[in-house]
Amino acid sequence: MLNDLKLRNDNLPGEIWICPSVQETILGYRQSGFFSREAGGILVGYRRGPHIEIVEASCPMALDVSRRHSFVRRDDGHQAFSDSRWESSDGTLHYLGEWHTHPEAKPFPSSLDRYEWGKLMSHYADPLVFLIAGTVQWYVEFSFYGWTISEPLSS
Ligand SMILES: [Zn+2]
Repeated sequence: MLNDLKLRNDNLPGEIWICPSVQETILGYRQSGFFSREAGGILVGYRRGPHIEIVEASCPMALDVSRRHSFVRRDDGHQAFSDSRWESSDGTLHYLGEWHTHPEAKPFPSSLDRYEWGKLMSHYADPLVFLIAGTVQWYVEFSFYGWTISEPLSS
C-alpha cells in the first residue's frame, strides 16, 4: 500500500501531495525495460492555499508522441480529461501540471522538456507541477524550484 506522498522544498511555502492512485499510475509506466518508451500525462487536483493536492493523472493516449527518449503530449484527450474533472467537480478540480517518464535512474529535464514546460507556463497564471519519473528517483519542479526524491515504494 502506498501512502500520500508529501513533498516539501525549503524554498516553497506549501507542500505537494500526491495521492496513492496517482503514484500507482506513474509507477506502472516506469521505464524499466530496455525497449520501453517514455510515457506521460497531465496532473489534476486541488489548489489549497500554498498547497497542491494531486488526485488524478491521465495516461498516454493514441496521438501522443512517445519515443525512447522523449514524450510529447499531443492527444486532445488529456485536455478533455481535465475539462471533464473541472465540470464534474463544480470547478474545484484543476489542471495542475504534467508528468512523464525517463529511462534513467536520476531524471533531469531535457531541453525539450524545458521548451514544452515554458510554453505551458506562459498559458497559466498559477505555477504548475512538473514531474519526471526515472527508474530510481523522481524529479519534481514547482514554481521554478526543482529537486529529486526517491521513487515511492509500496510497503
Ligand atoms: Zn523528459
